[in-house]
Amino acid sequence: MSPAAPSPRLFIALDTGSLDEALAWVEALAPLKTRGVGLKLGYQFFLSGGFAHARRWRDAGWSLFYDLKLYDIPNTIGGALKALSSAPPDFLTVHAQRQTMLAARDACDALGLPTRLLAVTLLTSMSGDDLTRDGIPADVKAQVLRRARQAMDCNLDGIIASAQETRLLREALGARPLLITPGIRVLDEGAAPDDQQRTLTPQAAKAAGADALVVGRPITQALDPEAAAVHILDSFSRESIP
Ligand code: C5P
Repeated sequence: MSPAAPSPRLFIALDTGSLDEALAWVEALAPLKTRGVGLKLGYQFFLSGGFAHARRWRDAGWSLFYDLKLYDIPNTIGGALKALSSAPPDFLTVHAQRQTMLAARDACDALGLPTRLLAVTLLTSMSGDDLTRDGIPADVKAQVLRRARQAMDCNLDGIIASAQETRLLREALGARPLLITPGIRVLDEGAAPDDQQRTLTPQAAKAAGADALVVGRPITQALDPEAAAVHILDSFSRESIP
């Protein structure tokens, strides 16, 4: 099940379809590999042929997070975990849907993968209005908590949710789950939220009880990605009132 190694505090989302661009980012970020930084790889990267790079980065000691947000029938979930088992990540996301989560847990355990399974509760680009439009009669916090509890029942290792829900999750679920938060923006410095709706600063995420951040564009689109990552890491280790 869960490995004992300490988790990274910051996962950098390499959201690009250009393997050259991804390679350049990883080269620029290399000094941070041993400072609590991991790489988050999504399907844009994998569908552009990135798996061989993932394998190399893994062998080079990077902590990897495959953000595949799996959601499928049990047989296909099992097949996906088998397919990635030649270069298994430290972290893998699945949607917080009971059948999918149970299938992922079973496959992960059966294959003996050193992978922590994370449940995606509600995308940070979504607001309460989006839930209403989807016909879900719950507010954001209630919906996130319901799915997070279900993830714990399915024996997953962690929860992906906005930092706006982190305090609620920590209080309700205790110390057990890893709480990992995307939608991070350094808004006090005028950064754009882009398509994210439920954003929070690194300091506020820390104060709310987050274990790690997921950050993409504020780092990859910065003039100096390494400096931007260091700034966010430093901010994350300084708590403030959210
Ligand atoms: O560029 P930005 O920091 O907004 O990127 C956030 C990353 O986190 C993206 O890779 C996105 O796919 C991912 N993510 C998210 N919200 C979730 C789960 C994952 O934004 N609930």
